[in-house]
Amino acid sequence: MSSYIEEFESKVKPKDYYDRLYDELVRLNPRLNAFNALIKPDKNGIPLSVKDNICVKGIEATASSKILKGYIPPFNATVVERVLKTKRFSIIGKTNMDEFGFGSFGINCEKPAKNPLDEERVAGGSSSGAAIATALLKYHVAIAESTGGSISAPAAFCGVVGFTPTYSVISRYGLIDYANSLDKIGFMARSADDIRVMLDITKGKDNRDSTSTDSKIVGLHHKKLVIIDELIDKVDEKIRSQFFEFVEKLKNLGYTVKNINLNEIDLSIPAYYLIAMAEASTNLAKFTGFKYGFKLNDFSKNYNEFFAEAREEFGTEAKRRVILGTFIRSASVKDKYYSKSLIIRKELIDKLSKVLKDAFLISPTMPIMPPKISEANSMSPVQNYATDILTIPPNLCGLPHISFPYSYSNGLPLSAQIVGSQFNDYGVISFVSEWEKNFEYKFKYNIGEI
Ligand code: GLN
Repeated sequence: MSSYIEEFESKVKPKDYYDRLYDELVRLNPRLNAFNALIKPDKNGIPLSVKDNICVKGIEATASSKILKGYIPPFNATVVERVLKTKRFSIIGKTNMDEFGFGSFGINCEKPAKNPLDEERVAGGSSSGAAIATALLKYHVAIAESTGGSISAPAAFCGVVGFTPTYSVISRYGLIDYANSLDKIGFMARSADDIRVMLDITKGKDNRDSTSTDSKIVGLHHKKLVIIDELIDKVDEKIRSQFFEFVEKLKNLGYTVKNINLNEIDLSIPAYYLIAMAEASTNLAKFTGFKYGFKLNDFSKNYNEFFAEAREEFGTEAKRRVILGTFIRSASVKDKYYSKSLIIRKELIDKLSKVLKDAFLISPTMPIMPPKISEANSMSPVQNYATDILTIPPNLCGLPHISFPYSYSNGLPLSAQIVGSQFNDYGVISFVSEWEKNFEYKFKYNIGEI
């Protein structure tokens, strides 16, 4: 399949198409918790879902946090505005996620997201709902967001294509920030060609986001693939052996594969979490119960009591990040943790840039298969963070990457991730496009088939 978007546009839709789609999703949603809000489209267009930390004018945006309940943005995020301007899309809902993006499994929220391929298992996070919606709907694209792997991880666990652009390529205006120097808006779809359509529409400078750029994005299709041994070592044995079978197939398709060592890559998890938490703690400071969403109206209490009560609304992981992030930024330890993390990030960017000059990086997307929700719930924070080892390096370095299924095991997808050099966004997309000519994805659901 090349483009589901084009196929959808070429078909005559029954009159009640959107009503039936809406009814089906209303029926399924309480089981899977994919959407925080479902919307019946009032115009014709490709069904589009938007992660709940991205603002759509007039529709509640909560980032799956109780503290934002009732917040109705009076404006569209730039990415939403650009997509709607084409008049080719219809928003069908806001998708569930880990609160503010804090998580890898979609369980740090009021209603844990379930994997549609095995409902006892996690869907991956934090863009859980975006991946579930893509796995359910035949014709649909999702606007999602990644800080440290939130597009790749759920895309991998739900068996869809997930693309995260080079940092700065898509405007962040209208995103409820997690960590500003790491956040990237991207997409999920059922084919690489659909991702390309979305990037064409949304890329480029936006005066409302000073970090956005007009740098020329390129599409270099390298035939050289690089595997970092330190990363592969962290992957479960079964996934590793299947991945190497996939690599053999790629060799038969004309790719060359080189293994390298990069010791510093092990520092990417601590560096990422230190930077991400430091930035998150400042971003959450604005949620005080005064201005956005959830409001306390009892002003009889003193200042400290008032704020303590309002901020009780944060979930456990959000509280952990406020406390750790504030500590990391404090004067006495700042140089030891925060500044050092920035140095590590810079070193990794330099090293990876050299490697990626004439190659793509390849690895499995996740080191484990989707755990059962009960298993994920009993992981310690450190065990949980460690599962991000393959998705954090490109995110920390702001490099374009894409996750896609390459095989299946007991009905669950096995997914790989391709990383490109800065601004080679079309290159990683074209790699997956090529792969799709040799491999057919299996989708359990095809809701909205015409
Ligand atoms: N799991 C990572 C975290 O919790 C990444 C999540 C994300 O990309 N939003 O920070």
